[in-house]
Amino acid sequence: MQRFCYQVIKRFIEQRRNLGYTRSENDSVSLIFHSKGNCMNLKSPEQKSGHLVLPGERLGVIEEFIPDSGTYVQDGVIYSKIVGRALMDLLSKRVSVYPLISGVNVPKVTSTVVGQVGNAQSDNVLVRILKIGPKKLSGVFTGVLHISDVEERYVTSMNDVCKPGDIIRAKVISDKNQVYHLSTNDKGLGVMYAFCSQCSSLLEPKRHEMQCPKCGNVERRKMALDYGKEEI
Ligand SMILES: [Zn+2]
Repeated sequence: MQRFCYQVIKRFIEQRRNLGYTRSENDSVSLIFHSKGNCMNLKSPEQKSGHLVLPGERLGVIEEFIPDSGTYVQDGVIYSKIVGRALMDLLSKRVSVYPLISGVNVPKVTSTVVGQVGNAQSDNVLVRILKIGPKKLSGVFTGVLHISDVEERYVTSMNDVCKPGDIIRAKVISDKNQVYHLSTNDKGLGVMYAFCSQCSSLLEPKRHEMQCPKCGNVERRKMALDYGKEEI
């Protein structure tokens, strides 16, 4: 393993030397999300998520990112503490470095993920990704589910799809600009567990709607075929 690591590092340094690796502030690109009455401005990190980094390598600044495991801060700059892969989550603004040897588990396009619905807008929701398939995640990742990726038919409001606190299963359809775009457009995808917005009880499916067994409240969701069955 030691020999393997040494070779990887050597190759990495050579690659950078060959490229005449330099980086300027101008490399940063701004990415703007437009949704109703909401505008999020995300700046691209200095390193690409998943890239190999060395101890002392600059990852970003504390004005932009929250330093997490495998990093340290000096004079406001975040550096890698170890040899590993830099993981950036643009939505939660966290940066961490995971050691090469541990087998890093990060979402990829086509990955099926399980997550919890966070901030919700009328046309999109943020999802905190908890698992990829059966495996736990390395690091913190947030995905976006847009209303156009919910299902084939037209959906009028995200309010009929999922609500904050729900657990959903989704597929990663793109990681463009380092944002994980999710889709629930499949029978096996959608809400796995939904909670009553009045009393937080677990909702039960009833025909095309969901009902709260405690307070009788009726709500709508885009349910996964195996709603309420998979252990989280
Ligand atoms: Zn209820």
